[in-house]
Amino acid sequence: MITLEQATETLLNEIRPITRTRLISLEKAIGRISVEDVHAPIDMPPFDRSPLDGYAQRAADIAQASRDKPVKLKAAAEIPAGVFWDGTISPGSTARIMTGSMIPKGADCVVKQEDTDDGEQEVCFYVSVKSQENICFKGEDIKKGTRILSCGSVVSYAHLAVLASVGHSRVLVRDRVKAGLLSTGDELTLLGEPLEQGKIYNSNLFMLAGRMENLGADVISLYNAKDDVLEVCRIIEREIDGVDIFFTTGGVSVGRRDIMHAVLSRLGATILFWKISLKPGTPVLAAIYREKLLLCLSGNPFAAMTNFELLGRPSLHKLSGDLRLKLVRVKGIMDDAFSKRSPERRFVRAVYENGRVKIAPHSHSSGALLSLLGCNALIDIEGGSPGLNPGDNVELVLL
Ligand code: AMP
Ligand code: MG
Repeated sequence: MITLEQATETLLNEIRPITRTRLISLEKAIGRISVEDVHAPIDMPPFDRSPLDGYAQRAADIAQASRDKPVKLKAAAEIPAGVFWDGTISPGSTARIMTGSMIPKGADCVVKQEDTDDGEQEVCFYVSVKSQENICFKGEDIKKGTRILSCGSVVSYAHLAVLASVGHSRVLVRDRVKAGLLSTGDELTLLGEPLEQGKIYNSNLFMLAGRMENLGADVISLYNAKDDVLEVCRIIEREIDGVDIFFTTGGVSVGRRDIMHAVLSRLGATILFWKISLKPGTPVLAAIYREKLLLCLSGNPFAAMTNFELLGRPSLHKLSGDLRLKLVRVKGIMDDAFSKRSPERRFVRAVYENGRVKIAPHSHSSGALLSLLGCNALIDIEGGSPGLNPGDNVELVLL
């Protein structure tokens, strides 16, 4: 049996990052990865503007103004934000302006309303200001040509604001990973159908589809199939060319109805590995079929989940180039005991917080689901471990 690390390396060697790109509108771009540098096509602000409500005039005209000796100027215009006034402020005149208004020609300073008598026809100024004072200059925030989005960046809301401010409405981003997902099992029942004797509802489909959505992949084909080699072959043959990666769950062990071996052989897929030395999810099976990676996970829900986090997620990481998908390992100290021996390497559901580790409550069997709730990390326990005690140092994979 190979190790998890060998299995991961084998998978990653087979995967080519996707190169498809897509030009999308700004409102859809949040969280996507830019594949181009974007430079500001205009200055921001696009014109000299006022940062406050007040009056625009020539600084020289009010150089002598004070509370005791106000200077009076004639009001030539009122210029609200968004309005272009074609006039010029001549010596001895002023214009009422608002926050965001264009500074009129001829004016070289702004005085805030509170430092005047707020006059209409004539305005008394109680202070002097320097030339250029209280003006927010064209291009002061963003100079035309400044790089505002870099190739490889994750588009954030801040990018959206900056891009929108300079009128850039579309971004070229890397396409999302397209994934296929198929669960196999004669016992599986779809939601909405009554549960017959001996059957269970299909939970893997929801778990993995939800997780992939979480990780930025589009599950574009989703199937629930019987343990029927021909049916499963037909689905994979039909879907494989439209996806970047295909996941299955169930049927990878050694039982009579563990059909995935027969499926892969019938498809003529090239097996990369079967079985890795860890628990749960030992019998995970990986193959290449028509140049796509087929990852066949164990059917037991926690085994499927562990297989997916440890092998599927790194595969999505390589395909998408999305750095956020990189597996994060941390060290922690046990608050709880875990009494089970681990002859083989084992991953255990845990709750990790500020360096402390608790065992997730409820059953830890690989078929148990409830302990997934609230679990945010997997403890990576070495093979040969007699169990864990409070105070033990452990390594974890964050979910
Ligand atoms: P298998 O890997 O097919 O041998 O299945 C192992 C165990 O996981 C069995 O108890 C199955 O009933 C269960 N199982 C398989 N697939 C699913 C699924 N999609 N959702 C929930 N449980 C499953
Ligand atoms: Mg089965």
